Amino acid sequence: MMKSQSPLVLVLLLLPTFLPTSSAARDFDFFYFVLQWPGSYCDTRRSCCYPSTGKPAADFGIHGLWPNYNDGSYPSNCDPDSAYDESKIEDLISSMQVHWPTLACPSSDGTHFWTHEWEKHGTCAESVLDQHAYFQSALGLKKQLNLLQVLRDGGIEPDGGFYSLNAIKNAIKKGTGINPGIECNVDESGNSQLYQVYFCVDTSGTELIECPVHPRRRCGSRIEFPAF
Ligand code: 5GP
Ligand code: 5GP
Repeated sequence: MMKSQSPLVLVLLLLPTFLPTSSAARDFDFFYFVLQWPGSYCDTRRSCCYPSTGKPAADFGIHGLWPNYNDGSYPSNCDPDSAYDESKIEDLISSMQVHWPTLACPSSDGTHFWTHEWEKHGTCAESVLDQHAYFQSALGLKKQLNLLQVLRDGGIEPDGGFYSLNAIKNAIKKGTGINPGIECNVDESGNSQLYQVYFCVDTSGTELIECPVHPRRRCGSRIEFPAF
């Protein structure tokens, strides 16, 4: 026979159901961490401009670290009072020039790109990451993933060859343990090519997680991985 519970015990047991949990207090559910392949950014009809600091390395570059909701929607431009302030990240700038290069035209030193990413996306994660922590997290994630090496280890080389979407996804899953989202764009000859790779990151900005929802992006059946 079940022992009858005192009303006090029942109230204590049910309490968590009614209290706001820490996740309810958060203003987003996870991050997308997005890497871009410079070869694919540059060989479209729109072309690209190298940063004023010089041609970037033939490596994936950071596009951004984007707060997102589990339903696929996302907040943006959350705090107009929090301007991008380079003096807060002076120690990171030389790393950002290497790992977060801008390829948009006209040529610039990256400040415009980083300002845009902080103001549009970073300000929506200020409850967990201040400006320094935001940019540092992105740099740390890139290093942790080592994506180009992971692809190479899986036989996927940036040499103008063609691969199936599954071959690319499987190589990344094997090398990182995580299922990525893949975005393609189209080169001047109309080939589908590997443009951006999406990973999901927990709200601390440091732990890679399986994506609660994958970004809906399309690729052709043959995907080129162009050289840069
Ligand atoms: P596009 O429409 O070119 O894919 O994306 C334009 C911009 O919208 C991106 O660079 C990014 O700032 C934002 N964006 C697009 N898709 C997503 C998404 O799924 N989540 C978040 N947080 N931002 C996105
Ligand atoms: P999104 O809103 O797509 O995150 O940010 C893209 C914005 O950053 C656009 O205004 C784009 O012109 C600028 N931008 C500057 N450099 C780059 C770059 O290397 N890649 C991409 N995707 N956008 C860049």
